[in-house]
Amino acid sequence: MKVGIIGAGPAGLYFALRMKRRNPGHEIVIVEQNPPDATFGFGVVFSDQALEKVRQADPEFYRALDSRMERWRDLTIVQKDERVPVDGNGFAAIGRLGLLQLLQGLCGEAGVTIEFDAHVQSLERFEDRDLIVAADGVNSMVRELHAEAFRPHIGYLTNWFAWYGTHQVFDTLTLTFRSNGDGAFVAHHYRYSPGMSTFIVELDAATWERAGLEAMSDDERHAYCEQVFAPDLGGHGLIANHSVWRRFPVVRNEHWTHENIVLMGDALRTVHFSIGSGTRFALEDAIALDEAFAEASGDVPAALALFENRRRPLAEKLEGAAANSYNWYEDIGQRTGYGAYDLAYDYMTRSGRMSDARLRETAPRFATAYDERRAARD
Ligand SMILES: Cc1cc2nc3c(=O)[nH]c(=O)nc-3n(C[C@H](O)[C@H](O)[C@H](O)COP(=O)(O)OP(=O)(O)OC[C@H]3O[C@@H](n4cnc5c(N)ncnc54)[C@H](O)[C@@H]3O)c2cc1C
Repeated sequence: MKVGIIGAGPAGLYFALRMKRRNPGHEIVIVEQNPPDATFGFGVVFSDQALEKVRQADPEFYRALDSRMERWRDLTIVQKDERVPVDGNGFAAIGRLGLLQLLQGLCGEAGVTIEFDAHVQSLERFEDRDLIVAADGVNSMVRELHAEAFRPHIGYLTNWFAWYGTHQVFDTLTLTFRSNGDGAFVAHHYRYSPGMSTFIVELDAATWERAGLEAMSDDERHAYCEQVFAPDLGGHGLIANHSVWRRFPVVRNEHWTHENIVLMGDALRTVHFSIGSGTRFALEDAIALDEAFAEASGDVPAALALFENRRRPLAEKLEGAAANSYNWYEDIGQRTGYGAYDLAYDYMTRSGRMSDARLRETAPRFATAYDERRAARD
């Protein structure tokens, strides 16, 4: 099979790797607009559950990934300077660039061709391809080119956010809530290497307005956030890397495929960072698409139909949970008065996937501490 892939992000690279390993006879080319060492953002985080899926599907890749990851068990929620540990989760993180370079190396060894520094503007050069994979990210050119077929829907959340990094390292995945005279802020932060952490700052629309952030330059916004989170940064600053302030785009498509073209990863749908990274979905798309090709014995229309039929119900379930999660953050301004344990409980049950009973099973230490505080208060 001749396969053309637009975009060497996690989705495009991992799909190419799996297809090529399954059948070295495939001729696979990935075209990427950036050089191999360019990246946006900092680290990406996976839950243990998400990693278990990767381990089951691909033990070899899992081992390579595992040796490069930072790991921790608890989640920590900080509210009004009180730290609440929530047990029983289990997470791991890796730098985005480290992940991309690992995948680039494995693709190279397997015989996948990657053309860097090549911006794709039309699909003309892919006319001889049996399969075209649009793994070109959130602003997918391919999706827009065939918008009448894919019928994309793009909505924007009202909160504002930016991805920063910091040399401050954190023991666990942490959510830190802070407020000042302008309003409410939350930082999602975790270490992804022994000396670096991701630090995503999010705030609601009212805070954005009151703080005058619209009129500020990116440098001024950066400095403002350093001040808000100074108690958490231990004297370190925030580091920017294309850290553009924006509202999260929720991308969905009515149709996932068109003729021999398939969307995957962020081009297909975005996943809010509060429920695990879009990187996890990108890898799972790659696994599902590759498995569909194996099952359909390389028949392109059959494989694409199988991919969408299988993956859509599962993805839509998680997308529903993601919506509950991001809607919870859209209301952070209403929770500034909550005590730390009440906020943590509210947070843990926000997506609708965690009932009170399940929380007690998965986070018994947290549940006991929560009950003790409630009993002392009542
Ligand atoms: C600025 C930014 C920072 C982020 N930071 C984080 C983070 O810290 N943690 C996290 O979990 N998630 C982060 N994300 C989200 C995460 O990157 C995505 O969910 C995930 O990478 C999806 O993988 P993908 O392969 O589908 O898309 P991407 O990783 O976006 O990869 C798409 C690739 O396609 C290339 N491309 C696009 N258009 C063309 C074209 N016309 N021609 C050639 N190449 C093209 C791009 O250069 C890119 O390499 C970030 C996203 C952005 C935009």
